[in-house]
Amino acid sequence: MSEEETIFSLIIDGRIPSYKLYEDELIIAILDINPFSPGHALVIPKEKVATLDKLSEKSSAAIGALLPKISRAILNITGATEFNVLQNNGKKAFQSVFHVHFHIIPKFEDGRGLQFPFKSTPIDHEEASIMSEKIQQLLLQGT
Ligand code: AMP
Repeated sequence: MSEEETIFSLIIDGRIPSYKLYEDELIIAILDINPFSPGHALVIPKEKVATLDKLSEKSSAAIGALLPKISRAILNITGATEFNVLQNNGKKAFQSVFHVHFHIIPKFEDGRGLQFPFKSTPIDHEEASIMSEKIQQLLLQGT
């Protein structure tokens, strides 16, 4: 990987696989590989900048329009009614992939979801495969 390449730019370029939920000219949304809860998604501008303060107006507008839409699809498919949106900028602020992104994290009655201290488990591939397909279909329908 070159300096400005991250795991997300490889995903955007289709060089490594992901559970894709949505893609257009400016944005991609995928399931997180180490989710806090089922349906934990990442909404990622294709623009290669590390943190939100560097993002162009065009990509910012596209992200703003998409976050509610993708949240609705995730709630619909997971059955969750509550969720967190998390966005980390910088190492000390818990950012680990230095390509700007937003987390959408469903919160469930049993406590699964964002917890302090942060606690995640590896993705369930069978569940992720079914869920990403359903969310993708819902988003294609324009929900
Ligand atoms: P952050 O700490 O805000 O930078 O979050 C980065 C997120 O990217 C973490 O929740 C990781 O689990 C997630 N992640 C890292 N690699 C991948 C990948 N290959 N596919 C999906 N999510 C990933």
